[in-house]
Amino acid sequence: MKNDIKEMPKVILHLHLDGSLRPETVREWVSELLGKEVNLEEIKKMLMVEKGCRDLNQYLEKFDLPVKVLQSGEHIKRATYELYEDLAKQNVKYAEVRFAPSKHLLGGLSYDEVVQSAIDGLQSAKKEFDIDGNLILCCMRGDDNEKDNIETVNVAKRFLGHGVCAVDLAGAEALFKTENFEKIFQMAKEYNIPYTIHAGEADGPESIRKALEFGAQRIGHGVRCLEDEALVRALIENKIPLEVCPISNLQTQAVNGVHPIGELFKKGICVTVSPDNNTVSNTDIIEEYEYILNNPNLTIEDLIAMNKNAAMNIFGTDKQKAELIETIERYKDERKDMGIDEK
Ligand SMILES: [Zn+2]
Repeated sequence: MKNDIKEMPKVILHLHLDGSLRPETVREWVSELLGKEVNLEEIKKMLMVEKGCRDLNQYLEKFDLPVKVLQSGEHIKRATYELYEDLAKQNVKYAEVRFAPSKHLLGGLSYDEVVQSAIDGLQSAKKEFDIDGNLILCCMRGDDNEKDNIETVNVAKRFLGHGVCAVDLAGAEALFKTENFEKIFQMAKEYNIPYTIHAGEADGPESIRKALEFGAQRIGHGVRCLEDEALVRALIENKIPLEVCPISNLQTQAVNGVHPIGELFKKGICVTVSPDNNTVSNTDIIEEYEYILNNPNLTIEDLIAMNKNAAMNIFGTDKQKAELIETIERYKDERKDMGIDEK
């Protein structure tokens, strides 16, 4: 089973750059900053969520250190490069990595410099490893940051098709309701920038409804749609993909007990799987797949189908989409040739 998971070509739609830093790299940066060696275990404690995390708000505290160390172009470039390198090792063929440019201005970088640095990291990784991808720029939930969010949509417009593929809305969903952010998505729509919105994670179905009303083409998490049958039907009818991140959902207590990804999938919702934050959640795509095979009891074929869902709903180009679908179909055919029948 482990080999099947490893070899499967994978597509990731929902992964935060600042939540996926290598602890070793952060240790190096913090040591430089302090002028003394810091302990790796200490750094890990600051980066990874503990057992018994109460909710999304507490989970978000783990982003304090990553944001502090990602204030130079060099660090942003290296972090992006290293993340894509890590993903390539897990046979991820395409990943949309997201971050909020507005959080990386404290060292004097401009919006354009922040985004360009991440693109540089992505481009060097693409040259060296068998992986493709694009960046999603996150607007942030908050009550006095509309200016930053407008800037974020503007920078996305400038880099759209040149390494940036979409915008998002991230942050404390229960504290700052989706309904308050209509203006930025009107802007994105006007500029023809695709968008996904974190919704139905810390807040309920109403948040997802708002995201759909605003025209989100994908929903980040969306697990709490299960509280509303009519909403589930709407997601199915409109073929709206959910970017489901099981382990993160369990940690933030968006769901309790066994993750309902099996239920979402069997109802006919367009389910895709992502790790959300490799480091903060102490996970990766392989661990997510193992969890899914062991707990909600789905099959390898179901995971292949979820990867195809993801491939069909990337915000990248039609060419990238076609290549990914072909890779996944080829992998399916190879399995058939080897006599591994579909269940
Ligand atoms: Zn997320």
